[in-house]
Amino acid sequence: MAQEQDPTVERTLVLLKPDAVVRGFAGKIIARFEDAALKIVGVKMKQMDEEFTRRHYFDLEERLGAQVYNLTASFMQQGPVIAFVLEGYDAIATVRKIVGSTYPNEAPSGTIRGDFSHYGKTASKAAGKAVANLVHASGNKEEADQEVVLWFDKDELYDYRTLAEIFTY
Ligand code: ADP
Repeated sequence: MAQEQDPTVERTLVLLKPDAVVRGFAGKIIARFEDAALKIVGVKMKQMDEEFTRRHYFDLEERLGAQVYNLTASFMQQGPVIAFVLEGYDAIATVRKIVGSTYPNEAPSGTIRGDFSHYGKTASKAAGKAVANLVHASGNKEEADQEVVLWFDKDELYDYRTLAEIFTY
C-alpha cells in the first residue's frame, strides 16, 4: 500500500489491554485484524506507567471525569499491553468497527468487545472498576497520528507488501 499515493490509506494504534493479554486472547484478537487484511506495521509489548498512561489518555479526565480516569489508568497498568500499528484503507474507522463500541454490553456480536465480554457501565460501577473492554483503538485521524508517534519510533514501523496487497488490490 503506497501510503503517499493514496490518502485513504491510514495508520492507527491498537492496544490489547491487560484483560486481553491475561485472558490469552491476543492471538484471537490479532487474527480478526489480519482476517480483514489490515497490515501490522509495528508491534511491541509494554508495561505502562503513571506518566505514560497520562500521555496516552491525555484528555480522558477532562472528557469523563477524574474517577473514570483513575480507574482506567490503574486498569491499564495492571499488566503489560500489546501495542500495534495497523495500516489499511480507512484503517481508523475500519478498526473501530471491528472493535465495537466502548461498553461491551452494547457492542454487537461479531465485534471484539461484543464477542469477548458482556460488561458495561453498570457492572463496572458496581465493582468499582474500569470497563475492561479488551482493546483500545484510535478514535480519529488526529488521535491516531498522535498515538502512533507516542508509542512507536519511526524505525519501529515497517514497510512491506502483504499477499492481499499483491493479489487483491
Ligand atoms: P474508547 O476506548 O472506546 O475510545 P473512551 O476513550 O471514551 O472510549 O474511554 C476510554 C476507556 O475508559 C474505555 O475504553 C474504558 O476502558 C474506560 N471507561 C470509559 N467509560 C467508563 C466508565 N463509565 N466507567 C469505567 N470505565 C470507563
